[in-house]
Amino acid sequence: MCKMCEQKPVYVTQNQRKLCGSCFVKYVEKKVLKTIRVHKLINNDDAVVCAVSGGKDSLTCLYIVDKFFRKRGVEVKALLINEGIKGYRNETLQDAEKFCRAHDISLRVVEVQKEFGRTLDAYLKKTKLMPCTACGIFRRYLINKYAREMGATKLATGHNLDDEAQSLLMNQFKGNMQLSAKLGPMTGVLMHEQFIRRIKPLYFITEKEVAIYSFIRRLPITYIECPYYRNSLRNTVSEHLNALEHKYAGTKNGLINAFLDVLPELRKKYQHKQIGTCLSCQEPAAKELCKACELLEKALK
Ligand code: SF4
Ligand code: ZN
Repeated sequence: MCKMCEQKPVYVTQNQRKLCGSCFVKYVEKKVLKTIRVHKLINNDDAVVCAVSGGKDSLTCLYIVDKFFRKRGVEVKALLINEGIKGYRNETLQDAEKFCRAHDISLRVVEVQKEFGRTLDAYLKKTKLMPCTACGIFRRYLINKYAREMGATKLATGHNLDDEAQSLLMNQFKGNMQLSAKLGPMTGVLMHEQFIRRIKPLYFITEKEVAIYSFIRRLPITYIECPYYRNSLRNTVSEHLNALEHKYAGTKNGLINAFLDVLPELRKKYQHKQIGTCLSCQEPAAKELCKACELLEKALK
C-alpha cells in the first residue's frame, strides 16, 4: 500500500517507496520543480518555448512547465519540427495539436520540407548518413532559429534521465567529450549570441516514470516509435543500459551523478571559445557553413 494514503501502489521508487497514482504524480512534479529551482532553469520573466514532438516526454515537459509557470507570468509556447517521417510524424503532430488546443497553448509547426526543400525521408535517399544524425542536425538548427523568432529566452526539451545517460555514453564511445560539455540540465556558456539557452526540466526523471506520469495524466499520446529508431546507436545503447539497470539498480542515476560532478571542469575545458556565423544562412556556425547548410550542400553534389 502507498504509505501516504493507503491506496494500491502503481510505482516503487529506487529507495523502495511505494506510491499510488496520485502520490506518484506529486512525486514526479516535485522532482521536476526541484530540478528547475536548484538548477535555476526558469525565472518569472522568462519566455519559454518547449520543443515538442507530440511524444510522451515533450508533452509531459510542456504540461508541467505550463501548469506551474504560466500562472507565475512565464510565457509558454510550443514548437514542433515536422521532419517528414512517413507513418510517424503526422500522427504525433496530431497529438501535439490536440494537447495544445486543450491547454490553450500556441503551437508553431515548422516543416523541414519548406525550410530545406525536401523531407528528411527524401534527404536520406541522397546520403549515407545515419538517419538520426541528419535528423538531429536539422532539428537542432530549426528549433534554435524558430524559438528565437518566437521570442524565447529559454528553450525547453523533454530529455529525461535515460536520454541523458544514453547521450553521455554515446559521446564517450565516439571519443567526443566536447559534445558532453554541452549536456547537463541547462546548456552552459553560450558560444554565440543567437543561441537560445536550452533547459531540460525532466533531467532527473526516468523514461519509465515519464511513461507512467503521462498515462496517469491521460495526455493524448499515441505511443508510436519512429521507424528509424530501431537501427540507431541510441537504441543499442538504451538496450544495454536497461539491461544493466535491471541487474544493478541505480546504474543510470550513478552515471548522471558522476557526470554532473565533472561537468564544471569539462565546461571550463571546452566551452570558452566563441563561434562564428554561417556564410550561407547567418545562423551560428563553428566553420564557414553551419552543419545544416553543410549537409544540404553535400546532398546536392
Ligand atoms: Fe529523428 Fe532518429 Fe528521433 Fe527518428 S529516432 S525522430 S530519425 S532522431
Ligand atoms: Zn547555415
